[in-house]
Amino acid sequence: MNKDELAERLRGIGFSCTRCGACCRGTDADENLVMVTPGEIELLGEGTGQSPDRFAEPYPESLATDGGGSLTFEHCLSRTPAGCVFFSQNTCTAYPYRPWICRTYPFMLDGDELAAFPCDGLGREMTRESARDLALLLLRRREAEQAEEKAVALVLSSVRIPEGRRVVVDGRGIRVI
Ligand code: SF4
Repeated sequence: MNKDELAERLRGIGFSCTRCGACCRGTDADENLVMVTPGEIELLGEGTGQSPDRFAEPYPESLATDGGGSLTFEHCLSRTPAGCVFFSQNTCTAYPYRPWICRTYPFMLDGDELAAFPCDGLGREMTRESARDLALLLLRRREAEQAEEKAVALVLSSVRIPEGRRVVVDGRGIRVI
């Protein structure tokens, strides 16, 4: 699907952000977790001046490995009881450095399938220009996700997973936690 086709599909669904902040406030265990790649963590760290361990943590889902260990893929943004660690006074304090997921919410591309998460902004009129901008972001996000998947596969093929340990893997390597 090219950018123009995607933009037309987005316009058909319609979306305009109402700035309600609901997508940044999710606090249930599996609600609105924002997965971040190493590159996104780096950008957020440089942009906000914060150390990554202040805002990112291993993704909570994991696979069991030999010897009672576990394997976690990637990291996600940490959350406080109020929502995302960067959400304050109903605004994103890391807005210029926010991850792809935030830039493209509530949409995502799974291959060529366009999916939309529940959001009050859906169904609202969208200009051609904003649909094209969003389509471009979605395509770039898919490209970045595919590159990260390849990098993770390369790490997994070249590194031995230590038995009985909890490890997190991303496109830059493996870390025992
Ligand atoms: S990084 Fe910003 S836009 Fe993304 S969930 Fe956190 S507060 Fe919201």
